[in-house]
Amino acid sequence: MNHNLYLQFLPHFERQPDKVLIDTPEGAEYRYADVLTTSQRLASVLSELGVQPGDRVAVQVDKSPQVVMLYLACLQVGAVYLPLNTGYTDAEIDYFLGDAEPQLYVCTPENLAHAQRFSQQGRVVHVESLGTASDGTLMDQAQSLAATSDVAQVEANDLAAILYTSGTTGRAKGAMLSHANLASNSRSLVEAWHYTADDHLLHALPIFHTHGLFVACNVTLTAGASMTFLSRLDVDKLLDGMPSATVLMGVPTFYTRLLQSPQLDRDAVHNMRLFVSGSAPLLAETHDEFHQRTGHAILERYGMTETNMNTSNPYEGARCPGTVGMPLPGVEVRISDRETGVALSQGETGMVEVRGPNVFQGYWRMPEKTKSEFRDDGFFITGDLGRIDEQGYLQIVGRDKDLVISGGYNVYPKEIEQLIDDLPQVLESAVIGVTHPDLGEGVTAVVVLKSGESLSGDEIIAGLQGHLARYKQPRRVFFVDSLPRNVMGKVQKNQLRATYADIYQ
Ligand code: ATP
Ligand code: MG
Repeated sequence: MNHNLYLQFLPHFERQPDKVLIDTPEGAEYRYADVLTTSQRLASVLSELGVQPGDRVAVQVDKSPQVVMLYLACLQVGAVYLPLNTGYTDAEIDYFLGDAEPQLYVCTPENLAHAQRFSQQGRVVHVESLGTASDGTLMDQAQSLAATSDVAQVEANDLAAILYTSGTTGRAKGAMLSHANLASNSRSLVEAWHYTADDHLLHALPIFHTHGLFVACNVTLTAGASMTFLSRLDVDKLLDGMPSATVLMGVPTFYTRLLQSPQLDRDAVHNMRLFVSGSAPLLAETHDEFHQRTGHAILERYGMTETNMNTSNPYEGARCPGTVGMPLPGVEVRISDRETGVALSQGETGMVEVRGPNVFQGYWRMPEKTKSEFRDDGFFITGDLGRIDEQGYLQIVGRDKDLVISGGYNVYPKEIEQLIDDLPQVLESAVIGVTHPDLGEGVTAVVVLKSGESLSGDEIIAGLQGHLARYKQPRRVFFVDSLPRNVMGKVQKNQLRATYADIYQ
């Protein structure tokens, strides 16, 4: 049997060639047949360039439908697709290419001359380009080559992709994802979210990250559905697209930004059936406000680069704000003591561990790191802390690396952030641990006030009296205009810890 993920998508291309798979707000339309022909020509180009099964193809280009075609071509020839964040600098690219040793590096047409040095330096064998106007050297070569329908034979555990993690807690790690990892997870999501060929997705996420690439694109391709590609988050374009769409997948910022638009109401979303949020915690307040305005309960799910998606709030049944729902079909989730690894009972807070066909094959060229992140019975230690409530819903309380240990006591930042956020003047907050001479770490709050509001640090601490034990209360409070976030909406606590590193010295 051939386990190539490509074969999970192919029947839709054959059955509905005239259906539009991807369109853009600028009016471009790509039918299933167009996408298939171009991706099959690109597969021929890859073969001409000597790309063999298992070879890495590193791709650092701006989002466009053509990138999906290149991704499909990589799957078809059995290459390992390796997308890179478009924001990476030269030094970072240097590191990633040195680490991944790709056969081919695909960059933007503007970058091509500069990037040629990677092949001169022996980092990669070939450098080619791909632009958003269907331009670039890859497409030029594709014009003159015949499409191939050959599909590489792969085993279930052969790699389909290496995806670098977001680098929120340290240097990004290359997660090795197999054909079976990706295929099983997209099938689970199609089932869990009742996805069908009639769905039309508004796609405004980057496609170098698991959310935009594997959740959004693989689910669309597995269901034989369609999508509108926005180059980035644009609230007006999202609202324009909603009358002809059925699903939106976003990070929490999408929803806070949509809520700022007076145009968001029940009428605007009348055709939509599902709003999904993930990649960072969605505030219960955002969930509630969105529900009031639109009548839709945002469905929050939880996943990571290494595991694809692990849990999801139910499609039918209560979607509980502040939780990430229950394990997806085939996925096991347990909570363990963060130090001893002993399984904890329901309601207790500890390390979230997962096992299932979704869990990756290990970190690229980091066997020791891989080994230390797995238990002997195959559970992957996610690095997230959480608890499973009485109804069986998982709540993520933060990352293990963000846990504050003050005076020997564990302080979970989320508990304090929630109470601070509940103060009427506060928009949002981040609680971090900062080195403290007596306590080890001092609980420190960084707060964003709502516009036009004023509040002092002492007033915030006074507002927590009676709600929080003394050791959990912030020692210092700082006010900022906004929290540092990356493109996936993740608060960069590393950056905050660096900014306030010396305050207790
Ligand atoms: P790195 O591993 O390099 O430090 P990262 O963990 O941010 O970066 P990703 O794999 O992109 O890289 O993100 C996965 C993490 O995102 C999860 O481990 C979890 O902390 C967080 N996350 C994802 N979805 C949710 C959610 N719904 N609620 C809370 N946190 C979430
Ligand atoms: Mg991580």
